[in-house]
Amino acid sequence: MRIVRVALDVPLSTLFDYYVAENMPVVAGQRVVVPFGHRQVVGVVMELAASSDFAATRIKEVVQVLNDVSPLPAEMLKLLRFCSDYYHHPVGMTVLSALPTRLRNPQAVVLKQALTYSLSDSGKALDLDQLPKRKQVQLRILRALQEGSLSAAQIKAISATAPAALKQLIEAGWVEAGEASAPCAKFTFNEEHRLTAEQQAAVDAVNRAQGFAAFLLHGITGSGKTEVYVHLLQQILQRGGQVLLLVPEINLTPQLEYYFRSRFPDTELVSLHSGLNEGERTQNWLLAQSGRARIILGTRLAVFTPLPNLALIIVDEEHDASFKQQDGLHYSARDVAIFRANARAVPIVLGSATPSLESYYNAKSGRYTLLKLTERASQLAQLPSVRCINISNELMPEGISQQLLSALGERLLRGEQSLVFINRRGYAPVLMCTACGWLSGCPNCAGKMVLHLKDRRLRCHHCGHQTRVPPACPSCGNADLQPVGIGTQRIETALQAHFPDARILRVDRDSTRNKGTWNAMRKQIQDEAVDILVGTQMLAKGHDFHNLTLVCVLSPDSALYSGDFRASEKLFAQLAQVSGRAGRGDKPGEVLVQTAFPEHPLFRALRAHDYDAWAATLLTEREQAGFPPFVYQVLLRCEGKQEAEVYEFMRQARSAATGLVMQVEVYGVVAAAMPRRANHIRVQLLVQSDARKSLQQFLRKWQPLLEAIPAKQLRWSVDVDPLEF
Ligand code: ADP
Ligand code: ZN
Ligand code: ZN
Repeated sequence: MRIVRVALDVPLSTLFDYYVAENMPVVAGQRVVVPFGHRQVVGVVMELAASSDFAATRIKEVVQVLNDVSPLPAEMLKLLRFCSDYYHHPVGMTVLSALPTRLRNPQAVVLKQALTYSLSDSGKALDLDQLPKRKQVQLRILRALQEGSLSAAQIKAISATAPAALKQLIEAGWVEAGEASAPCAKFTFNEEHRLTAEQQAAVDAVNRAQGFAAFLLHGITGSGKTEVYVHLLQQILQRGGQVLLLVPEINLTPQLEYYFRSRFPDTELVSLHSGLNEGERTQNWLLAQSGRARIILGTRLAVFTPLPNLALIIVDEEHDASFKQQDGLHYSARDVAIFRANARAVPIVLGSATPSLESYYNAKSGRYTLLKLTERASQLAQLPSVRCINISNELMPEGISQQLLSALGERLLRGEQSLVFINRRGYAPVLMCTACGWLSGCPNCAGKMVLHLKDRRLRCHHCGHQTRVPPACPSCGNADLQPVGIGTQRIETALQAHFPDARILRVDRDSTRNKGTWNAMRKQIQDEAVDILVGTQMLAKGHDFHNLTLVCVLSPDSALYSGDFRASEKLFAQLAQVSGRAGRGDKPGEVLVQTAFPEHPLFRALRAHDYDAWAATLLTEREQAGFPPFVYQVLLRCEGKQEAEVYEFMRQARSAATGLVMQVEVYGVVAAAMPRRANHIRVQLLVQSDARKSLQQFLRKWQPLLEAIPAKQLRWSVDVDPLEF
């Protein structure tokens, strides 16, 4: 009798046993179609067995073994089991969620043949000098094809807009596609810079690593971390390996993708992120899994891609909170990447200008090797000077101080760009009645509705609820309603009134909602068709605008005294990032921060560009207060419509926890930071321990007790190593 244990996408922490017919070959890691309830579903074989604990009559038979894709390797099965175990998420859901959606269906998927492109007869007959000069990219493609045929990847390396231009050339009949003979055997590396001594030392250290080794690459903004990655890639690619490069944001992938393609034009590169459609994602996944794609550039979900020749993992901006998934499997892609590198015995590089305290502590205590880049890579680029503007005694109706206005005015005169940073979109965070004090609260949430003046609406950023701006106070009828506080739209309006001739561009989630808008805006900025940028943290990361010399930070203070113990760590990272946008070219940069607390240690460290001093302050605080990285935490969250029910669940959960009497500290049940969202009451319970192992042992006992508590109308989840409270 042959039995397979199958992972299925159901919320139970078990595998399911099925018979396999004698004539049906099957191995672990293969996808199978099995009956489940009244349906047939796709699952993944995790184990083979000779017998089952279930009665023979209750076991059903595998309908089909899917052979379209090679089985998930043992390494992946182990990785997924570890994740299910560590994050206490049902094994089947963990395994299935790691696959592209198409692979969760029984329809077969195929890896499409790669194509090569060459000039058609009419294309060869073209006189390129006769074509319109403004079709630059098309011309460059045609010129390149005159030298010989090219793969899709090589064409994409010509320009970010090359795929669109190629399509037009094919439609015009000048270029034709044919099947590729063999994957391109050529390896080209476009050397751009001579590495600085610090960069070279970092590259050498990683190259020397044998087997698993974790490196923290701590490099100030503009120190050329990307260049270090490129040189590391070069070594690996030459030896035939694959590199997994994780980045926090989809927004940054097109830029990086184009950049790496231009440096390695013959190398197959794929990106994996949620912005791809299902077909693209499946194809890219198959390319990676078959070993053909050599550079895999992706957001957190890419950490689960099977890579037969994986030789190096890089996590860029490792401190970024978006590596942590906030629902379903609450994993941290950075931490999973470390586990994976260890299991595969390959090196891993975590890069950041402002490392997470967790990684920094690991580096300080010797678990990771610390590599430092302390200077900007380009000779001409200097770190910007940072100054605080004390606003405690200044009246600023529109949130902008006089000093800031004159600094912006100077830049306008000099024809340089400025960036005004404020992490709040909309016009004002709340609308208030001047007579009775009514505030625009959301009917479904504990939060306030944000005023969006452009379309005269109030919007809740938590649940999406929106209404028209009321003509008068809903509570007392007074017609004088005033916006309170500032958002990006209000700043944009105020600056435009102050500088009527300035070209001002607002960049936030509202202004970039449509696909492609952000790319177009970036081009506008690069072409210097913009004088002042007003934006949220979308602008803070990774961008290299050469004529930008002034960064203004408007209202950072609320994060200094927030209830969230990570708020000031995040604020420093954000301000260091956004400051890093200034003075990247040959002109010196300046950063002005409006604050009522200029002597706060955070601002002192920011002015001195001294991450180490700031990290030391935070680590001391965290150690004294007993916070991570000195303790390990798990957060139980629960939400539901009936308050009594939610609290009853949590009461039982807590008493189950204290009843276990283990080496953990069980805190009280408290309301979440946003205690009501979309009409759901939200409550949480923190458990912590100074040993990871004790916490895991506790969780293993606690989880089944939690599952036994009645929770029909409730949603609850366990978040291991939570980042948000
Ligand atoms: P980071 O990611 O550390 O902020 P980047 O990798 O974006 O920095 O590099 C900043 C700038 O320095 C880029 O314009 C890059 O081309 C340039 N650069 C990197 N390495 C060198 C080098 N060795 N010599 C000269 N310029 C360099
Ligand atoms: Zn009123
Ligand atoms: Zn709401």
